Amino acid sequence: MLYELGGNMNKLRHQRETIIKNFPSLEEIIRGSLIKRYSKCTYSTCKCHMSRKYWHGPFYSIAVSKGKKTSHIYLSNNMIKEAKRRMQNYDRFWKDIERISDINIKLLKLGDKE
Ligand SMILES: [Zn+2]
Repeated sequence: MLYELGGNMNKLRHQRETIIKNFPSLEEIIRGSLIKRYSKCTYSTCKCHMSRKYWHGPFYSIAVSKGKKTSHIYLSNNMIKEAKRRMQNYDRFWKDIERISDINIKLLKLGDKE
């Protein structure tokens, strides 16, 4: 019985270690939503004023909400891929925290004193 508990603990500790090892770096985290939009330009003779299908874009930005206020940070094309990755890191960060917390609860129940 005791041996089995120890085995479970080691398994859980190992799972936790794996999550921590692959944990996203705080230097590569961005909280926000990626916004993609199309728009008309200011030249009234441009064909974008004739139909929505000629609108310019896509243009990308990051929407960051703080309380009731949302600000938009516009992204140049060479920033989009990295911005996406960093926002995915933010999601992964919280998912991993959740998984680690679940493991820590299980370990606590098993009598882990670390
Ligand atoms: Zn136009």
